[in-house]
Amino acid sequence: MFLVLGNATVDESMTVEAWPSPGQTVVVGPPRRDLGGKGANQALVLGRTGAPVRFVAAIGRDAEGDWIAARLAAEGLPESDLLRVEAATDRSMIFVNGAGENAIASTTAAACSIEPAMAAACVARLGPGDGLLMQGNLTLAATRAAFAAARQTGVRTVFNPSPVQPGFADLFALVDLLVLNEGEAAAFGGAGAPEEAAQALRRAGAGTVVLTLGGRGAVLADDAGADHVPARPVPVVDTTGAGDTFMGVLAAAVLHRGLPLRAAVAAAGAAAALTVQRQGTVSAFPSGEEIAGLL
Ligand code: ATP
Repeated sequence: MFLVLGNATVDESMTVEAWPSPGQTVVVGPPRRDLGGKGANQALVLGRTGAPVRFVAAIGRDAEGDWIAARLAAEGLPESDLLRVEAATDRSMIFVNGAGENAIASTTAAACSIEPAMAAACVARLGPGDGLLMQGNLTLAATRAAFAAARQTGVRTVFNPSPVQPGFADLFALVDLLVLNEGEAAAFGGAGAPEEAAQALRRAGAGTVVLTLGGRGAVLADDAGADHVPARPVPVVDTTGAGDTFMGVLAAAVLHRGLPLRAAVAAAGAAAALTVQRQGTVSAFPSGEEIAGLL
């Protein structure tokens, strides 16, 4: 069993010709509403790999929370695992420009209302051999409590520390598989060539490190050393969601399927290469059938 403990948001996207300047109003076409949040996205991809998944996130007692719950239920992630909190459901406002770049503002009040004791209690339901996958949207204290509880019970831990929070590096000793991009690695002091950065993060305490490099693929570092797995050359439409696709497939490949790390990274990269060829996030994720063909 995998527990994904993270966030779920309502994402509202608008496409702008150019970024609005301060004081300027720009007119746009109809907004698009989608399920979002790294937690929800990664849980959804993980579920599509066929791995048994439970997704715990905090949502408000509001219409947006109901909407998220219904979307997750349609993906086989039950509403009964969601925590209804007093804060409003988290939302992201996303501007996408003509070049496909995005600028995002997100609220985190619901995600941050998960107390450390609640996080630890969720993990306490797991046992040895189960997996815990977290991202950077919960508070540092709740994230630490969950990983510490996992360590005590023999649960294997996967951490995608995005967005970066000060103090996350102190948790690396509790993490079996650390997955992050170059910007995040640099924020934790993993500078220099990707192979060196990945090894530096291992020295900081993480068991195995996978450093994603966008269109250049990924570097992995474990006891056997560091290695580079190139990305598949594909026509790129929209890279949004590539990281979440990569995470979900990688976690399943390593912890559920038991693939060797290099093969797992290659499968995750192939899945993410499907996502970048399509518009959107959830709408761009590979189907269960597509993922099955890669694992
Ligand atoms: P996100 O923008 O979704 O947060 P991220 O920064 O976490 O992404 P990236 O390093 O951009 O993660 O991408 C994750 C993986 O997706 C890469 O390691 C690679 O395998 C694949 N990928 C990303 N961009 C491309 C691309 N242009 N072509 C092929 N594969 C890609």
